[in-house]
Amino acid sequence: MPRIADIINEIHKVAPPSLQESYDNAGLIVGDASEAVTGITLTLDITEEVIDEAIQNGDNLIVAHHPIVFKGLKKLTGSNYVERCVIKAIKNNIALFAAHTNLDNVIRQGVNSSLSDILELKNQRILAPKKGRLKKLVTYIPVNETNQVMSAVHKAGAGNIGNYSECRFEITGIGRFTPKEDANPTIGSSNISESVEENRVECIFPDYFEGAILNALKSAHPYEEVAYFIHSLDNVNQDIGSGMIGELEEPMNTDDFMQYLSKKLDLQVIKHTNLCKEKIQTVAVCGGSGSFLLGNAIRNKADIYVTGDFKYHEFFDADNKIIIADIGHYESEVHTKRLFFEILTKKISNIALNFSKTNTNPVKYLVTT
Ligand SMILES: [Zn+2]
Repeated sequence: MPRIADIINEIHKVAPPSLQESYDNAGLIVGDASEAVTGITLTLDITEEVIDEAIQNGDNLIVAHHPIVFKGLKKLTGSNYVERCVIKAIKNNIALFAAHTNLDNVIRQGVNSSLSDILELKNQRILAPKKGRLKKLVTYIPVNETNQVMSAVHKAGAGNIGNYSECRFEITGIGRFTPKEDANPTIGSSNISESVEENRVECIFPDYFEGAILNALKSAHPYEEVAYFIHSLDNVNQDIGSGMIGELEEPMNTDDFMQYLSKKLDLQVIKHTNLCKEKIQTVAVCGGSGSFLLGNAIRNKADIYVTGDFKYHEFFDADNKIIIADIGHYESEVHTKRLFFEILTKKISNIALNFSKTNTNPVKYLVTT
């Protein structure tokens, strides 16, 4: 029987926790990670109704996109829905877990890649890639062992650049060292100066793989002491960041695209700016509150920006350069339930994965005409 920690680990392989934004509170919020899982309820939001569903299903873990606790809790008296959810979860021994901005910020199997998949966008790339999330490994390996050592290092996540894997640079030189008295050298003997033909190997990796990559390097490398450097880089990491952009296979008339959008995402309402483009081909998306990426969508020449939570004055900023389509926060992220299912179903075979049936959208629509 998998433990709660095993489920969290599978989700974190896709959406590493270190990718969450500084204001976020993703991760295990209530519960004991060492407990065995009886079943999992998948939801966008945690509400009291969702916890009731988990109780009825016999599930002791709720996996959500939005963290139920976002700010500090100073009292637990049930005076608001957050406190009541936490109390109910604890009383019923139900763990609450959220993968939030860490799931937003990944290029594959993230909130925005699956939104782009639903809209069948091709050539998907991150709309606002992040800086400062790449590092460089420099290490020295005897020439004959280089391929074997680097294959372990690549397997741990190093050397991926866009659509290329196992990227590295090598240059051959001479490594010199003198083993001390207590050394147990693979090559040479104590107190005798040694020189070995070695490759200096360089490759980049996302910072969250550092531990795994150093473990792989040290266990695959033949030397007792492995020489290496880690450098922090200023490069943009094109695989990490907010929002996505891509193209429709064929340009679509704007009116047809609005119908397509509504149908694909099961929308009741689209709040939009002037339909200033005749045709739509390049589409930017951001699940949730995405107004902060409007400038990126315009700079990247998107015809339309599909997101949620635009404020009145922010709609003016479209300025006939782009169409803003505000489809609602809930509607732009409700598919994350299916995303969790896809991540877990391949890895966990003997545990029930139940979609919450509760519509947790706090926004209701009254159609008056
Ligand atoms: Zn959201």
